[in-house]
Amino acid sequence: MPKPTMISAVTDAAAAEANIAEANTAVTNTAVTNTAGADLVLDEATESDAEPSPTADRPLIGRSLAELTAWIQEQGQPAYRGKQLHQWLYERQARSLAEITVFPQRWRSQMAEQEQTGQLEVGRSQVHFRSVAADGTVKFLLRLRDGHIIETVGMPSTKRLTVCVSSQVGCPMACDFCATGKGGFQRNLTAAEIVDQVLTVQADFGDRVSNLVFMGMGEPLLNTQAVVQAIQCLNQEVGIGQRGMTVSTVGIPGRIRQLAELGTQDGRTPQLPSPSASTPRTRNCGKS
Ligand code: SF4
Repeated sequence: MPKPTMISAVTDAAAAEANIAEANTAVTNTAVTNTAGADLVLDEATESDAEPSPTADRPLIGRSLAELTAWIQEQGQPAYRGKQLHQWLYERQARSLAEITVFPQRWRSQMAEQEQTGQLEVGRSQVHFRSVAADGTVKFLLRLRDGHIIETVGMPSTKRLTVCVSSQVGCPMACDFCATGKGGFQRNLTAAEIVDQVLTVQADFGDRVSNLVFMGMGEPLLNTQAVVQAIQCLNQEVGIGQRGMTVSTVGIPGRIRQLAELGTQDGRTPQLPSPSASTPRTRNCGKS
């Protein structure tokens, strides 16, 4: 994966990395900067994988057509509006229900009020920083709802548009060459926050994403549940083929099997992309 070379060519990238660490440290005091601490956070990240994800307050991004249809019916709208909502969220990049002009004006206003009060969340991040390299690679720093900053990279070529996504805020693996690892671990990303990264790149390039690599911030196999949910959403709702997706891992014992099991537990997706295991030194997540 040529990403590290491309990253190094991005203007102001070093300053941006420093900004990520600063911003994320300001949001949380749980950053870990030594090996012993990293072990502790690794345990916490492992435990959090076992927690069921909440459904009632989940953002709209990340939900399937059936889930969006059920939700919109709960709001008193006819079922066919579920398909409209799905199209506007995943294809037309609506960031607020207020933008969905096919919906009744009055209902849109009510939903917009709920978004403002936090009762309803579409699930889109804000672009905090964007830089373009000479080869067309675009690096984004995205500000999440809780203020944390993550990075995403869009890498165009003649035949493909590849996205390098993050799976965690920070990383507990603490590889000694990696700036992200040195900054410590803050939290796992949700499936919606992973999907949002892909939608952001699609919107910026005005083109469909064809390939996806989990080589951004974090170790994806320490956040398997959200990673699997995101893969399923990106495949089923966004239309990215599973063969175009790569989960890169430093190698967490038992987690590759768990990834496969989580995938087959869900009836919608018979297969998940094969993880690409490598040692931390050869994996290079692009933060060195
Ligand atoms: S190189 Fe990758 S796995 Fe290692 S600390 Fe950095 S983000 Fe984590």
